[in-house]
Amino acid sequence: MLRALRRRVSAHPRSAASRRSLLKLIGLGLLANATRGGAADAPVPQPAAARARDFMTRAEQLRSRALADGDQGYGAVIVRDGRIVGQAPSRVVVNGDPTAHAETEAIRDACRRLGTRDLRGCVMYSTTAACAMCETAAYWASVTRMYAGEDIADRGAPRYGGC
Ligand SMILES: [Zn+2]
Repeated sequence: MLRALRRRVSAHPRSAASRRSLLKLIGLGLLANATRGGAADAPVPQPAAARARDFMTRAEQLRSRALADGDQGYGAVIVRDGRIVGQAPSRVVVNGDPTAHAETEAIRDACRRLGTRDLRGCVMYSTTAACAMCETAAYWASVTRMYAGEDIADRGAPRYGGC
């Protein structure tokens, strides 16, 4: 994506100075995306170890990011085979979308990245227990198990309309 943007910018008949400032803005945008949980086409940074605590720590970092952005304090990650394949902070306020809970956003992120709507074998870590909407979304995505909160409580397999 960045290469395509650079090509487009360098093809544009503007001064070198304005090209430089445009490239700087693009760079800042990518940096902002990375700290918000990553653009969909950027790889998800992986924790040093593949332990439940490390995945929950990432979810907590996403919660902090949500709060820093003025959103609701929730974060979630989706893990498959010991790797984070989807992650998101809450984006309800930022996106003006009442369905953009962290868990549902993390499911969307994982589906986008994996190119599937079937998250069988995936585990969800979220900073609080999933609400009925998010648990149902996890159910429809076939997420295998959910863990929630600082104590990494086992919430079992998602249930339809569960809470
Ligand atoms: Zn929810």
